[in-house]
Amino acid sequence: MPYVHNTLERLRKSSPAQTEFYQAAEEVLECLRPLFERSPYYHDHSIIERIVEPERQIMFRVCWTDDAGRVRVNKGYRVQFNSALGPYKGGLRFHPSVTSGIIKFLGFEQIFKNALTGLPIGGGKGGSDFDPKGKSDAEIMRFCQSFMTELYRYIGPTTDVPAGDIGVGAREIGYLYGQYKRLTGRYEGVLTGKGLNWGGSIGRKEATGYGAVYFAQNMLEARGDSIKGKTCLVSGAGNVAIYTIEKLYEVGAKPVTCSDSRGTLHDPRGVDLALLKELKEVKRTSLEAYLEQHTEASYTPVDDYPTDGHAVWRIEGDVAFPCATQNELTEADAETLLGNGVTCISEGANMPSTAAAVDRFLAARIAYGPGKAANAGGVATSQLEMAQNSSMQQWPLQKVDARLKEIMANIYKQCADTAEEFGEPNNLVLGANIAGFRKVADAMIDQGA
Ligand code: GLU
Repeated sequence: MPYVHNTLERLRKSSPAQTEFYQAAEEVLECLRPLFERSPYYHDHSIIERIVEPERQIMFRVCWTDDAGRVRVNKGYRVQFNSALGPYKGGLRFHPSVTSGIIKFLGFEQIFKNALTGLPIGGGKGGSDFDPKGKSDAEIMRFCQSFMTELYRYIGPTTDVPAGDIGVGAREIGYLYGQYKRLTGRYEGVLTGKGLNWGGSIGRKEATGYGAVYFAQNMLEARGDSIKGKTCLVSGAGNVAIYTIEKLYEVGAKPVTCSDSRGTLHDPRGVDLALLKELKEVKRTSLEAYLEQHTEASYTPVDDYPTDGHAVWRIEGDVAFPCATQNELTEADAETLLGNGVTCISEGANMPSTAAAVDRFLAARIAYGPGKAANAGGVATSQLEMAQNSSMQQWPLQKVDARLKEIMANIYKQCADTAEEFGEPNNLVLGANIAGFRKVADAMIDQGA
């Protein structure tokens, strides 16, 4: 199919340093080949050429003052990728690895993820190469204020609604929101993931992790299996990992691992959730401190591991939840997991498995839920927060959680039905990409060029 090939070639040439963006674009476009064969009108409307190009990219300088009084400079980004289905929606990531290519890959994934939720939200993403690690609370506040001083003119509750991602939690959303109000004088739902007593949705913090577990339940139940009693491997120790672990206990599974940038923790008796929350949400410290209270647990520092392989995936378990970051699970890891008998992967992070690892999972025909489907519960609940804000209401947890469950079941069904329709039952990568793309592409066609 020359136009898929030509578009990928053009992308590579136009911006050679955007490896993760090509990886994401290649996966989506390759999956779309059978759709283009059936529906040539997408080609007539130049949909792929249009969909890989962000509608708008904003890059800005963020100057802030550290505690020593020195002026520091970081880069800020917001990619408004696609608004065919609604206002741009997607998180902000603060991490030293952030580049325009990383934000583009995340924004691109967000388009299809948001489409799969069935809610009226377009795709966007933003962030900064600012490293929150080791910064004081006052430094974080000043950085967030400077970031918003640049960003506020481009966002709004019906145009672009950022939220959190890696390095951006309730604390950062609070500082960003305060500055938005100061600058605009408007008290409105311009960000999601807000505090519960100032416009946040109950259940938002938990939603990505809970959703990834609901998605795994859907995949396993379709195969006549259940999550109950399963030993689970979780990577990461942020918001997504913590609430994946919480939900796993609630559904009768046993999560035995988690990890941070410094190492992997393995507690064969099950991760102590209260201690994990205390270390990560309150003290903001390394997982190594866990061992002070649990001598039966073990900790493997990252340095002890080769780059192509991660300690967390060498531990034996039945179901894996990669909840850390992109490309954290390599082909070698996939082989190890399959060798150890893992039967289900549900991705809480965005694109955590490399392309070669995904191929391994698909070839082995295990239950594999790609991030854009399995972790969509977070952004879906963000949209529920937008709905609550615009109607000046706050829904009870029961209502939010029931909606989340329903949305995750519906995403699973769309992916599975579409995979079936295209003759590859169980290939949820194909199903997610075609189902998400079709919605966005049809809306683009309806709205004209
Ligand atoms: N950062 C999350 C994601 O990757 C959530 C985005 C949002 O809530 O807008 O989907």
